[in-house]
Amino acid sequence: MTQRTTKPNVLILGGNFAGLGAAQKIRDYAGDAVEITVIDRKAYLDYIPNIPLEIFEGRDPAVTMHMPLIEALAKDDVHFEQAEVVALDVGARTVTLRPNERPGSPCYKKTYDKLVIALGARLAYDEIEGFADYGHTVSDAWHANRLIDYLKNDYKGGHIAIGSARFEQGARGRPDWLPTALAACEGPPVELALSLAHWLETNDKGGAKNITLFTPAELIAEDAGEKVVHQLLEAAGQMGFGYMNNTKDIVRITKTGIEFANGEALETELNIVFPNWKPHGFLRGLPISDEVGFIVTGMDMRNPDYPDVFACGDAAALTVPKLGAIGHQETDVVGRQIAKDVGRMAPAEADKGWSPEVLCIGDMGGGKAFYIHADSWFGGKIQELRMGRLPYAQKVAYKEMFFRKHGRVPNWGLPFAKWTAEQIAV
Ligand SMILES: Cc1cc2nc3c(=O)[nH]c(=O)nc-3n(C[C@H](O)[C@H](O)[C@H](O)COP(=O)(O)OP(=O)(O)OC[C@H]3O[C@@H](n4cnc5c(N)ncnc54)[C@H](O)[C@@H]3O)c2cc1C
Repeated sequence: MTQRTTKPNVLILGGNFAGLGAAQKIRDYAGDAVEITVIDRKAYLDYIPNIPLEIFEGRDPAVTMHMPLIEALAKDDVHFEQAEVVALDVGARTVTLRPNERPGSPCYKKTYDKLVIALGARLAYDEIEGFADYGHTVSDAWHANRLIDYLKNDYKGGHIAIGSARFEQGARGRPDWLPTALAACEGPPVELALSLAHWLETNDKGGAKNITLFTPAELIAEDAGEKVVHQLLEAAGQMGFGYMNNTKDIVRITKTGIEFANGEALETELNIVFPNWKPHGFLRGLPISDEVGFIVTGMDMRNPDYPDVFACGDAAALTVPKLGAIGHQETDVVGRQIAKDVGRMAPAEADKGWSPEVLCIGDMGGGKAFYIHADSWFGGKIQELRMGRLPYAQKVAYKEMFFRKHGRVPNWGLPFAKWTAEQIAV
């Protein structure tokens, strides 16, 4: 339980990439000027980006991808409370939570001086008709293990569809430079198609020709930039993958296939899909949220109407595409702003401008990966794509460093990864 002090009390909702990162950055920049508490329903960090790699390399991601959260936070004197956040009242500065270590707890209210919303999003698989019976995915260990079990024991070599449902992005408070995305995060489907093709080949169950990649948008993974995507699609086409664009949305998944909102359909044996990333229900309708429920902020990651409320990671309306790498940049901004508020950082330093970048390393199987670094989605000129063994080594090494350093990836970690991937061909 949080100690009572006179220091400003910073409450962080969510303890995965954005929540842990924000706690560490706030401690780095604001020092001992604040009390920090993180609330999450689970006491571990789920290292989601490497889940697909783990299952295809024969490891259970529940064993290898869960990092203990409480000890990581304690290293920075950050308190942790395991509870379900059920409501938020920004007028009264209170959060309602239900402790969830044992069922049956009542709800409690907690006040804050500064609030950081890092609750991610709700992955709405339950809104895709037929998903429970005929759909598969890899965004958590449970579903990833269900998929690998199916592939090993039940898959008969039929056609496989991999792609995304339509993402609903809000418009209220959105800056002019941020485009509308029709899919929330399309690195994962591309990565999965490539690594699954390799797995099918090495397990004598087929290969790229079994797989069709689909997207609701004009271009898959369009936030990676047209040049990068065309290079990727050319390589994928030569390998034998099928490709469908402008599917608009997934209407339903059935025993025999998948149907799309543009009227097209595919006969399939297996459908691996990514859903709409929806904000949590209790955030919708709040004065800090857009019409969908994502939290509106400026580039300082503060809500313009409630400047003591911050958001970062997938919960923030500004985070599009929904990428951990963008959330990571945002946590730094949150840390600086809170340090400014408590007099530990000069405004000129805290308010330094920044622009989001897409940084994504995707497994291709066989010890290879693709590396994408782009800012063209946000109006910049960077569009870098590399494929080979070095990005794979970086993907694995980054996770190792993350766990060993309890999430404290040194500041040079990301620029170093960028530099090596873009300068060295291996
Ligand atoms: C398969 C896959 C691969 C990916 N690969 C990459 C990649 O290579 N690179 C990249 O940058 N991004 C990647 N992403 C995206 C990345 O995983 C997300 O952007 C990132 O996890 C967002 O972090 P977050 O902390 O904002 O939200 P989350 O990771 O969703 O964490 C939210 C936290 O809030 C907690 N929470 C939620 N609601 C409540 C509540 N009501 N009460 C209490 N606690 C709650 C959850 O338990 C969780 O710990 C990938 C995503 C997927 C699905």
